[in-house]
Amino acid sequence: MDKKNESQLSSEIDVNSDGKAHGYLRVPFSSNDAGFGWIPVPVAVVKNGEGPSVLLMAGNHGDEYEGQVLLMKLLRSITPDDIQGRLIILPGVNAPAVAAGTRVSPIDNGNLNRLFPGDANGTPTEMIAHYIDSVLLPQVRYCFDFHSGGYSCEYIPTAHLVEPDEPELRNEAIGFLKAFAMPNSILIAGLKGGDQRLLGSCRRLGVGHMSTELGGAGAFSVDTFRAAERGLPRLLRHVGLLKGNGEEEAAPTSTFYRRQAATGVVYATATGIFEARCKLGEDVTAGDVAGVVHFTETPWREPEVVRFKHGGTIISKRAPGRTKIGDNLFALGKRIEISQARDAHLS
Ligand SMILES: [Zn+2]
Repeated sequence: MDKKNESQLSSEIDVNSDGKAHGYLRVPFSSNDAGFGWIPVPVAVVKNGEGPSVLLMAGNHGDEYEGQVLLMKLLRSITPDDIQGRLIILPGVNAPAVAAGTRVSPIDNGNLNRLFPGDANGTPTEMIAHYIDSVLLPQVRYCFDFHSGGYSCEYIPTAHLVEPDEPELRNEAIGFLKAFAMPNSILIAGLKGGDQRLLGSCRRLGVGHMSTELGGAGAFSVDTFRAAERGLPRLLRHVGLLKGNGEEEAAPTSTFYRRQAATGVVYATATGIFEARCKLGEDVTAGDVAGVVHFTETPWREPEVVRFKHGGTIISKRAPGRTKIGDNLFALGKRIEISQARDAHLS
């Protein structure tokens, strides 16, 4: 690699050694507190001989907590004997955002999942994205990234991914969703700007990718977390990493939806307090009232009515009460049938 594009991050652990190790990725950062210090990004590796390499990430957005807990628990409990291959875990990948409990990093305002493929000499968040893109992803076959709705948004319990066009990749992706088997699985269509997400790097590098929305509203969803805790071992067995003991339960059935990235979202058309008139999981039709926006500075005005332009099932809902023009209020999905045919063979 060209020297000027070489990552400035260093890892305290060797991800190529058998066994289990943990430490930090060191992100160089010069601040008032430490002129030549570094930001610690926790990392762990578990490796046992030949087998698939899998990268698990959470804390891509710091205010999404279920995935972070899921991966911290896995990190502590898993042993090399449990697997064949290699598991790399980044349970709090945008560490400054994780420490602050905010979506973006308070250091550089960086939204990690909008900064791929990153910049070797950029801001801390860009350097983290660049390390994932240039060092970690080229070494793995699968990357699963655990998100929730965050402070501003709450989701029905969901795993999701952007639907690949190629039949083989699509079969593989649907296989991830069926194995993880959250109550709901969402295929996103027509996404713009995907190249700047982790997804874009995974596509460029031929890495199988799945993401989740495990609740949200800046809180911790117990039911969703329990479903994810049961799903993660199934997913890791499905890709051939986790060894089975022959006593595993079959995956429960997941309801599939397709979400159109552009038209599946309802936005606020005024600024004020949003009185939602619908709940997560409800079915709506075009023309239904989504809610009304009350004007707190001119409370005698009639509130602004926001309607659904399309029908579907509500898969996400704005969490905070106040809203402004342009905020996403609801996202809709359309229920679809997914063939029960056997998934494509995984290599
Ligand atoms: Zn997220």
